[in-house]
Amino acid sequence: MESYDPEQCPCRSRRYQDMRSNTSIELLQNEGCTHVITLDSLITNNPLLQGIVNSGLNHIPCMTLDVDEALSELDSFLGALFESIMELRELTASTQSFLRRIILKKGKENMTKYHEVQRYVAAEPFEHLAVKREIKFITGRFLICPMDEAPSTPAFVCNNFIRKLAFHRLSGPEFASIAAPPDTVIVRIRGEFSAMPALPTAPAALPYLMTVFKAHKGSFRWITNTANTIISPVAKLCACLLRFLPPLVHAFCQERSLEVLELHGVKPNLWWAIASGGEYCANLPSEVYSVFIADIARCFEMNPTDDSEDSLPAAVKFFIQCAMRVRRERSSSHAIRIRVGADGAFWPSWTDAGQPEELGSLLFKEEDIYWLIEWCIANSVLRMGDHVWRQVRGSPMGLACSPIWCDIYFFKY
Ligand SMILES: [Zn+2]
Repeated sequence: MESYDPEQCPCRSRRYQDMRSNTSIELLQNEGCTHVITLDSLITNNPLLQGIVNSGLNHIPCMTLDVDEALSELDSFLGALFESIMELRELTASTQSFLRRIILKKGKENMTKYHEVQRYVAAEPFEHLAVKREIKFITGRFLICPMDEAPSTPAFVCNNFIRKLAFHRLSGPEFASIAAPPDTVIVRIRGEFSAMPALPTAPAALPYLMTVFKAHKGSFRWITNTANTIISPVAKLCACLLRFLPPLVHAFCQERSLEVLELHGVKPNLWWAIASGGEYCANLPSEVYSVFIADIARCFEMNPTDDSEDSLPAAVKFFIQCAMRVRRERSSSHAIRIRVGADGAFWPSWTDAGQPEELGSLLFKEEDIYWLIEWCIANSVLRMGDHVWRQVRGSPMGLACSPIWCDIYFFKY
């Protein structure tokens, strides 16, 4: 990281005097001087931009409504809907086209009405030249990041300070520096998946750090953004395989809890991870007497990724073994075929392990799944500037498979 003189930081000017925060000293102990960390819209002199900041980022009309564009979006959505819902798919072609015409007509009427009522939305404050110039000036000095629990409120943080803080984090025990430039790492990862031609092509970009300001704690939450990077198709594939197995693991748990019931007279709930709020609500009993809430601090970061028997890879292996045990009792097809859709979506199904690999699909035997998961855990890489780091402790927040890894870890322990 290039060095800079904290005393010369642009945020040290008199103008920002009241916006410099002691939090910057608390977070970087040997920094010696404060930097700007503020939610104050007075960071700008531009009244239009102040207005945007004060009313919260959710209220920015990003684009004017283009009715034709929206209708073509609606039309392709209807196409996908008619494809995926069985009752709709079974309708005759003429009924389908009749229904689509009616829905599009109604949609057009509603959009035109919205357009008339919201006419003032057509003015796009972000497109204003003075606002654009001001944003360019501000982002040259400050990182505008969302705030924890209030994502539409922007926080302004001195660029020099946040870079230094990110570097400080990367220099800690959770990360190891990789002695290769970003391009070499990308070529290496491409090479490792060249044997899977059906895997959607990944952009030649590495994951990078993003941050969210936790104003109530005076700290920052770090997220590794893996969207649209070299890692994303592999992480999505890993998540797809792991999400395909829970019904079998539920069956495994059900069997074990019935065994416990027979032996000890109590029926434990061995699978208690709930993946969605909807699932939780649907399963609430009619009467609830006590509710206990706990928050696991640094849940993602704390999962051990070493090769010990209590590590995340060992827990995931145990989860897959539970699923496969039930599968073997039920069927002779033990491999997972993943068809890759035109839009890059993955469609898993069971198949015989001896089947040849089909064009546009991937075949996973039990040991291939272990390999893929270990690869994902071992390749939590990220880039800052011209350097690459690897997360060696815990799983990165922001990776497609991280939430399900956490569920699996809790399932084991
Ligand atoms: Zn500064």
